[in-house]
Amino acid sequence: MIDRPTPSLRLRIDREALADNWRALDRLSGSAEAGAAVKADCYGLGANTCLPVLQEAGARQFFVAHWSEVAAVAEHVTPDSISVLHGPVTPADAAYARAVGAIPTINSLAQAKRWLDSGGGTCDLMIDTGINRLGLSPGDIGDPLIAQLEVRILMSHLACADEDTPMNARQLDAFRSAIERVPHRKASFANSAGIALGRDYHFDVTRPGLSLYGGCQRDELAQYIRQVAYPEAVIMQTRNISAGESVGYNATFTADRAMPIGVVSLGYADGYLHNWRGTGALACGGDLLPVLGKVSMDMIVIDLSAAPQLGEGDWVSIPYCVPEASQKSGIPQYELLTVLGQRLKRA
Ligand SMILES: *Cc1c(COP(=O)(O)O)cnc(C)c1O
Repeated sequence: MIDRPTPSLRLRIDREALADNWRALDRLSGSAEAGAAVKADCYGLGANTCLPVLQEAGARQFFVAHWSEVAAVAEHVTPDSISVLHGPVTPADAAYARAVGAIPTINSLAQAKRWLDSGGGTCDLMIDTGINRLGLSPGDIGDPLIAQLEVRILMSHLACADEDTPMNARQLDAFRSAIERVPHRKASFANSAGIALGRDYHFDVTRPGLSLYGGCQRDELAQYIRQVAYPEAVIMQTRNISAGESVGYNATFTADRAMPIGVVSLGYADGYLHNWRGTGALACGGDLLPVLGKVSMDMIVIDLSAAPQLGEGDWVSIPYCVPEASQKSGIPQYELLTVLGQRLKRA
């Protein structure tokens, strides 16, 4: 067997920052314990890298969206610490939950019935308090099916935790009245931004996701949250172009002076989206290297004027402080993380 060649792009995960972010969010959750939203392969950063760090830091409750995500997470944590937010959509989902021991989040009377029909047992229950996404309508709480559920975590989800709006308090009121009507072991309400809304929003378990991985949507959290994901890519080729020459598809960039340029192994297939055209820059040390022309599937071209010493085989970094990068690119913080491609993570 021949070794695989070293990849020309990689995603460095700052494990210390990830652990610090979880500990900060746990501390900010007051008397509640922080769990961890680990759906979508830990927001694109890689479950195999992130889960051991989160567990070592102290996380004991993990949230995924899909049943297909359970297996990868269960390689690192006990199945009964995994809550599956989409719930049992088919009888096969319910059977799978029972077989592997992951906990379904029940979102509707139909899901409650499906779970009970499969034999029932411990489940989590999502109440809709106004986001009108997944979740049991408050009007259905009195249904006899709900009384039969063995509810471990009773939860709801905030629609606007990143904003100061009366909707947050309205959802809180609705959740409080649901809590009184459904027997449960623990209550859970706040996502990352919700943690910053204060102790009324904390209950027993919080469910941070974005801020674990370096995203931050509220000023109250900014001083605690550190960058976790550091994408880097190799310069594959360099050349010198003259004034008047263009770069890339459709020749959207034309040089107004002679300049050294570098072709970098990073494209939209890796999650470096076209939004970065015109505003994007890679970095080497303190030097910024603007992206020239269109983003291709597997490469971008950068201006090496600020670091002409760079050559083929040198690594450059992609500035990825999530809140800042989001502001520059117009790409939402969540998407900046989850779009990062598989070719980076295999590195
Ligand atoms: C994704 C998700 C979270 C985490 O939210 P963040 O805003 O990323 O902190 C918490 N709860 C539910 C139900 C979710 O779907």
